[in-house]
Amino acid sequence: MQIAERLTKIPPYLFMELRKKIAKAKAEGVDVINLAIGDPVEPTPDGVIEELYLRAKDPENHCYPTDEEKGMISFREEIARWYLERYGVLLNPDDEILGLIGSKEGCHHFVLGRINPGDIVLMTDPGYPAYRSSILMGGGEPYSMPILEENDYLPVFEDIPADIVKRARGMFLCYPNNPTGACATRDFFDRVVKFAKENDIAVCYDNPYSEIVFDDQERLSFLSAEGAKDVGVELNSLSKPYNMTGWRIGMAMGNPDLIAAISKVKENTDSGVFNPIQYAAIYALKNEETNIENMLNIYARRRDLVLKTLDRIGISFKPPKGTFYLWVPTPDGMNSIDFTNLLFEKAAVVVAAGTAYGEHGEGYIRISLTVTDERLKEAMERIEKEFA
Ligand SMILES: *Cc1c(COP(=O)(O)O)cnc(C)c1O
Repeated sequence: MQIAERLTKIPPYLFMELRKKIAKAKAEGVDVINLAIGDPVEPTPDGVIEELYLRAKDPENHCYPTDEEKGMISFREEIARWYLERYGVLLNPDDEILGLIGSKEGCHHFVLGRINPGDIVLMTDPGYPAYRSSILMGGGEPYSMPILEENDYLPVFEDIPADIVKRARGMFLCYPNNPTGACATRDFFDRVVKFAKENDIAVCYDNPYSEIVFDDQERLSFLSAEGAKDVGVELNSLSKPYNMTGWRIGMAMGNPDLIAAISKVKENTDSGVFNPIQYAAIYALKNEETNIENMLNIYARRRDLVLKTLDRIGISFKPPKGTFYLWVPTPDGMNSIDFTNLLFEKAAVVVAAGTAYGEHGEGYIRISLTVTDERLKEAMERIEKEFA
């Protein structure tokens, strides 16, 4: 059966070979530790589960979601409170907030709601691979802006060729950044707003790690920048801060025209999120501040452990201050795939090769801190033993 061209354009999974090797090793009984995936291992907080249970028992909620694709007004009001208290951003729940089936859905629908065939959408390299897929499925053309350590992993808009800028109608940004962990600055936000305004580029600021920052790093929303709502939307999600990846709930905030466009796509695709899941999300936003604090302490502890181990095997670097990933330079100029393979062969530890996130990921690997302390400790002991 022939499949659609839009799908054939999406690059195949780069690491089929490694995936096969992992399956083979596991079948042979090797104790493989996977540090390649960013999915919190700790459970969703009890109170959130209890809320889902109680709401799911109520027949009132067995219908299509209330307020359909936009999300319940009480959910949107709670998001407004959360954004105001945490980031000082004032949002109107009526036309500036939309519930989503996770932030990933928002990325996809942003392209469908804004981009015409042949329009260019800017993204970063390295960057989250789902942006490229969303752009291609939505009929856009991806253009990668390199983000390099020497520029604090921020794109340099002046380096983009003029003919590309002219055709660009959209841009994906993500800080705290997956995969590099880099954080943005208020000054950068102002540059984004100016560049977007001057060139009629709609910004999709993907911010699922807004809460996951370390040391003295400030928690930031792009929407706190002056003029941000004129040029774009921000996406956020319950997945990462509340250990709710599988629940599929997130939100889009910002420019009313873009929110209406994304809402129209949703209206014609799904009918919104099951009410009990929205109630559970309200509960999390209202009551689970301590979960975020606990998780940040846990990630900070794991981060220290990995950094100390790497230092002992001769890899030292200044880590960026966001996300639960570490973006680690490979030793002795080794390439990403070779180092990834070596870690697997010698220590049965799986990491993500930097090149999975674009060609400028060469020379790096990404280590995720979302496994248990015990497994991470075991992984670090093996690495230290093999590479010291
Ligand atoms: C995890 C992740 C997402 C997915 O978030 P969901 O809300 O679970 O869809 C989106 N963007 C980035 C950069 C991520 O790392």
